[in-house]
Amino acid sequence: MPGCPILTYHSQLLFGNDYRNNSHVGLAADLEVIAASGRQIIGLRELVASLRGARDLPLDELVCITFDDGPDFDWLDIEHPEHGPQPSFATLLRRHAAAHPGQRPICATSFVIADAGARHEISTQAMGREWMNDHWWREAAASGLLQIDSHGLDHRHPCLAPGDADWGHFHAIADEVSCAQQVDAANSIIAERSGQPPRIFAYPYGQASEYLRSEYLPRHGQRLGLEAAVSIEPGHFHWDSDPWFLPRYVSLAHWHSPEELASLLRG
Ligand SMILES: [Zn+2]
Repeated sequence: MPGCPILTYHSQLLFGNDYRNNSHVGLAADLEVIAASGRQIIGLRELVASLRGARDLPLDELVCITFDDGPDFDWLDIEHPEHGPQPSFATLLRRHAAAHPGQRPICATSFVIADAGARHEISTQAMGREWMNDHWWREAAASGLLQIDSHGLDHRHPCLAPGDADWGHFHAIADEVSCAQQVDAANSIIAERSGQPPRIFAYPYGQASEYLRSEYLPRHGQRLGLEAAVSIEPGHFHWDSDPWFLPRYVSLAHWHSPEELASLLRG
């Protein structure tokens, strides 16, 4: 079935300088594949707004780009201690827009983790550095280039509760209290620090309990200003997609080369 693919990248995937071990090299190459495909890049919020509105977008001519976890390299160029200078995802998007004038204004979504203490632990334990800050969220959100949306409160990251089997996945978020923590509290923090309330929720690990996706979000989404939630179930976005469990493709999981992406974009 035709439709609009939603692609996902992780800017912390940075273990060398090749397509398969550096998501910045990957995104730069993939942006060229997208340009050659004839599809234009549309912001996820605009796509979701159309799902709930006029449904008049040409889905077969579009593609969405999203970034998960919100490391600093979504927005900030860095000098990586082992792998040298790395242009941020935002820099790659700007370069691409400059090289391909006449396209829609380019826009991607960063799904960020709300809680500063959780980000500190995840970043220092998983990356060995303080690389998940929030000081860039406001500038990014105001830029029009990156939309800042929610990836929950703390990602239920296993480093925050070592040995606890209820962490390291998102299935345990299945009652009103834990959903309110992960969704409502995260929204308030992100709205305060980015200057704009989140409109889309990205399930950590792409996982959602039946209660969260089928009861909590449909019931409370509107009050919270949320319009959709995204999974990592591979598939194209269609007008009949479940707004609370939209499909996404993940780089280096669902495609592994520019050629595989080209084929995915052809549908
Ligand atoms: Zn994540």
